[in-house]
Amino acid sequence: MSKFQSPDRLPLQPWMTSAATSAVLLALQSGGSEVRFVGGCVRDAVKGFQIKDIDLATPDRPEAVMSLLKAAGLKAIPTGIDHGTVTAVSRGEVYEITTLREDVETDGRRAKVAYTDDWVQDAARRDLTMNALSCRPDGLLFDPFGGLEDLRNGRVRFVGDAQARITEDYLRLLRFFRFHAYYGSQALDPEGLAAAELLAPNLTSLSGERVRDELLRLLAAKAPLPVLLSMIETGVMKVLLPEARPSLAILKSLIAAEVEPDSILRLSAVLEDGNEPAAQVAARLRFSRAQADRLTLLCTSGKVQTGWSPKITGDRHALRQALYDLGVETTRDLLRLDFAIANALEANRDTSLLHKALAIADEWEGPVFPLRGRDALDLGAEAGPLLGDALDRVEVWWREADFVPSRDACLTQLRLELATTE
Ligand code: ATP
Ligand code: MG
Repeated sequence: MSKFQSPDRLPLQPWMTSAATSAVLLALQSGGSEVRFVGGCVRDAVKGFQIKDIDLATPDRPEAVMSLLKAAGLKAIPTGIDHGTVTAVSRGEVYEITTLREDVETDGRRAKVAYTDDWVQDAARRDLTMNALSCRPDGLLFDPFGGLEDLRNGRVRFVGDAQARITEDYLRLLRFFRFHAYYGSQALDPEGLAAAELLAPNLTSLSGERVRDELLRLLAAKAPLPVLLSMIETGVMKVLLPEARPSLAILKSLIAAEVEPDSILRLSAVLEDGNEPAAQVAARLRFSRAQADRLTLLCTSGKVQTGWSPKITGDRHALRQALYDLGVETTRDLLRLDFAIANALEANRDTSLLHKALAIADEWEGPVFPLRGRDALDLGAEAGPLLGDALDRVEVWWREADFVPSRDACLTQLRLELATTE
C-alpha cells in the first residue's frame, strides 16, 4: 500500500520529524526562509519506499546556509558550494542542502548555475517529473509538473522536452532507463525513448565514474530486463557497453537463480566471455580494483568453465575443494553463473542441484590448514624448499580427506613425509 493519501499532502514520516531533521529545519528557518524536502526522499515517501538520503532546498545562498547551520551548532561542510550544495550533519545524520537554482548554461555534462528565489524554476531544472516534487516540513506537497500522477501510474517522464533535457546532461539518458527500472510500470515513455535513441552516441562524452554508478544502479533493480531490452533495441547498449552479448538469456536465467540483486554478477552475465571484455569495461568505467578483479574472475573462470558447476554440484567433495580454493562468495557466484549459462543453452534445467550446492556452500566452515613451517622445524626439518614441499603434500592429503584430519593427525603425516624426503 502506498502511504500516499491526498493529492497534496504527505503524511508526516518519521525522518521528517526526527530530532536530527528538526534541528536542521530550525537552523535553516531561523533566517526566515522557506525550507522544503526535495528530490528522492519525497518521491520515495510518496511511493511508500524506504528513503535513501534527505535532500533539502532553500532560497538562501550557500554561504548563508553555512552560517545558519554553524550558528545552530551543526556541522556544515561546503561539499559543492560552487553549485549551491552544502552538507549538514545533525546527530550523525547527513543532509544535502541545495540553494534554489536554475541551470543557465550546460555542455551536456556540467551546468553553470544561477541562484533564484523561485521554487518552480528550481523544479524545472530537475530531470524527471517525479524528481521535481517538493514537500514542506508540514507535509504539504508541491508538484509543478504532474510528478505525483506519473509516480502513481509508473510513468517515467522528463520535465519538458526530452531531447532538450538529455542534451543538457547526457547522464539523464541513463537516468531515464534506471528510474524506469525502479518506478516504471508501463511501456517506456515514447518521447524519452526516441530522444534516447537519437542521442545515445553522446554517452561517450560522460565520465566513466558517472556512467559506472548509473549502470550499477540500473543493474541492481529487481527486474531490469525489460529496460535492458529496450536499451538494446534503441542502440543505447551498443554505445554504453559494446562488450555486451547480443542476448540477455544468461542474465534472465541468473536473475531467476538469485536471492538478492548483485550488479557485478549480473554485469558478468551480460558481457562476452573472457578477460578482455571485462578488463575493458572495468578500465573505461573506472571500477575499483576489487570490482575489476571480481568482474574479470567471473567473466573468465565462470564462463570458460561452463559445465563446472553441473560437474561439481552433484559431487560434495569436489564442491568443498572449490570452496577451499575460491572462498564461499566466489563459489556461490560461480555456481549461479554457471547454472545461468547452462540454463540459457537449454532452458528449464532443474534448479534442485544448484540449491543443494548452495546449501553446501552455506555450511562451509572455512577450515584452516593446521600446520605451519614452524611445525616442520620443530620436528627437526631443515628450512628450505624440501620443507615447503613436504608441508604442501600434507596439505593436499588433508584436503583430500575433506579437511577432517586434526592437527595431531597432520603432524603424524608430516613426520612420514619428512622421513621419506630425507
Ligand atoms: P536517489 O538518491 O535515490 O538516487 P535522488 O532523486 O535523491 O534519488 P540524487 O542524486 O540524490 O537522486 O539527486 C537529488 C535530486 O536532484 C533528484 O531527485 C533530481 O531532482 C535532481 N537531479 C539529480 N541528478 C540530476 C540530473 N542529472 N539532472 C537533473 N536533475 C538531477
Ligand atoms: Mg537523493
